[in-house]
Amino acid sequence: MVVEQIIQSIKEIKEYAKENKVPIMQDASMDFITTTISKRNAKKILEVGTAIGYSTIMMALTDKDVTVTTIEKDKERYFEAIKNVKKFGLEDRITLIYNDALDTDIEGLYDLILIDAAKSKNLEFFTKFERNLSVDGIVITDNINFHGYTKMDPKEIENRNIRALVKKIKNYINFLENDVKYKTTFYEIGDGLSVSERRID
Ligand code: SAH
Ligand code: MG
Repeated sequence: MVVEQIIQSIKEIKEYAKENKVPIMQDASMDFITTTISKRNAKKILEVGTAIGYSTIMMALTDKDVTVTTIEKDKERYFEAIKNVKKFGLEDRITLIYNDALDTDIEGLYDLILIDAAKSKNLEFFTKFERNLSVDGIVITDNINFHGYTKMDPKEIENRNIRALVKKIKNYINFLENDVKYKTTFYEIGDGLSVSERRID
């Protein structure tokens, strides 16, 4: 694929996402993640929440030695992701899994685990997949700010469902802040990101 085709195909995926209300990663977050992959020389990536494969493809495009295993539980999105991965000819470097991530056991170790699925279940994803993190690997979690809600006083949030979700995200933030095994840095990029790495002592 030549550069012009890559740019055009990425643009098409983004347009599809917009039209079909698929919550793909914001540009600033995507830039941060691809830069982090290059800087850290991360090669094996595990993603929770493929959607239509936008972030998956963007990560795979950072280097020809990058492989991505990614999990999606929505059938329609999974099939759209298959189409998109084929379009880029990345079938040999991207493994798409159609399942609930919490019911999926993954083998092997990963340099980067990206959690970008159901915000309410971040803690469950983290605890399930931390055993797949390589010694110097990192876990990145998207949507830590949840449109700014996590910075609000819960009393100000009128919608009960949103309030419950905010509570869960805050609980996850709290877990990350206090975890003895991991050191987490929070970034005000896109919808808020966290980067967790093992404490070495
Ligand atoms: N990473 C994608 C966007 C993912 S949107 C990108 O930036 O391009 C979040 C996705 O996570 C949704 O498609 C949703 O269906 C999926 N998801 C939510 N909970 C999940 C679970 N338990 N297992 C697998 N996928 C899940
Ligand atoms: Mg997200």
